[in-house]
Amino acid sequence: MSRFLSPAAQGLTPYIPGEQPQDRRYIKLNTNESPYSPSPKVLKAIAGEAGGSLRLYPDPESRRLGAAAAKYYSLAPEQVFVGGGSDEVLAYAFMAFFQQGDPVCYPDITYGIYQVYARLFHLDSRIVPLREDFALDPESFSGQRGHIFLANPNAPTGLCLSPREIEEILRQDTDRLVVVDEAYIDFAGGMTCLPLLERYGNLFIVRTFSKSRALAGMRIGLGLGSREVIEDISRVNFSFNPYNLSRTSMAAGIAALEDEEYFRELVDTITATRDRALEQLGEMGFPALPSRANFLFVHAGPLGGRELYRALKEWGILVRYFDKPRIDRYIRVTVGTDQEMDVFLGTLRDIYANLNE
Ligand SMILES: *Cc1c(COP(=O)(O)O)cnc(C)c1O
Repeated sequence: MSRFLSPAAQGLTPYIPGEQPQDRRYIKLNTNESPYSPSPKVLKAIAGEAGGSLRLYPDPESRRLGAAAAKYYSLAPEQVFVGGGSDEVLAYAFMAFFQQGDPVCYPDITYGIYQVYARLFHLDSRIVPLREDFALDPESFSGQRGHIFLANPNAPTGLCLSPREIEEILRQDTDRLVVVDEAYIDFAGGMTCLPLLERYGNLFIVRTFSKSRALAGMRIGLGLGSREVIEDISRVNFSFNPYNLSRTSMAAGIAALEDEEYFRELVDTITATRDRALEQLGEMGFPALPSRANFLFVHAGPLGGRELYRALKEWGILVRYFDKPRIDRYIRVTVGTDQEMDVFLGTLRDIYANLNE
């Protein structure tokens, strides 16, 4: 720590990203990236852009990508905000809509960045407990005053609320903004609450190209909402980081939206691998929650989360564990290729077989 660090910055609790190791090759099942490359058309678009006009600033309004996304989701271009990853979109939502004195509501077990941002912006948190089985009861938000952050499907559980349940939360209080982080919704099969945008001005949906579109390295996120909400988010964006998306990212995003066939194939492959691995884990005595995402939340057995994480790492497999009450006996395992999942399942079997000898 330097002697210049402000008291406010000293009080921060930064987000701890999953490891991106450089020391050796791992089977990397720890940060919910895609095991597959993006579409060849995306790679071509990136190369084309790189060979073109990188000396010029990108369009600060990301209009071409915004228009492509609007068309893709059947929205007006003014209902789409384009951000440098969805984490940035979430940060702008905090900056635009939360004021000190108002609490921010989110479940006790969810994506860690909500709490990080709540602290960064000096907001009180109202933490809503999930049920014993990790399901979210929509009723638990009723009577809560603050704006709400929800990951749907939730992380790290993979459980998903139906659009009807999201609607229930939206209706409880239409003066409360409900931010639904749909980072994993493409793996959930028709569960998006996008159709509710038409009727609920208090809904703001956040999407990312990092997971289902295999573009975590390009940092592309979307915010979808009413024209007014998008205008507010843009206002904050232009007060902070106007050129938030690179030219290559925009080109990649447009090409990704255009290659629907490739996208469908990726999603279908990953969900099939997920469902097969889920079944096999059950047969092996490691129950996992019924995930609608591209990861599995797996009970770690007698070793517990941290120890199983360590054992797997020794064998060259990276997963995520959580030093947190209620979930410290679980690991979160990204769905890799079929082959990677077979290695994971075999290693899990070996670790416990050795333990019992
Ligand atoms: C991965 C993830 C994000 C962040 O995605 P980026 O677009 O890469 O910033 C946001 N929300 C949830 C729930 C995630 O798991």
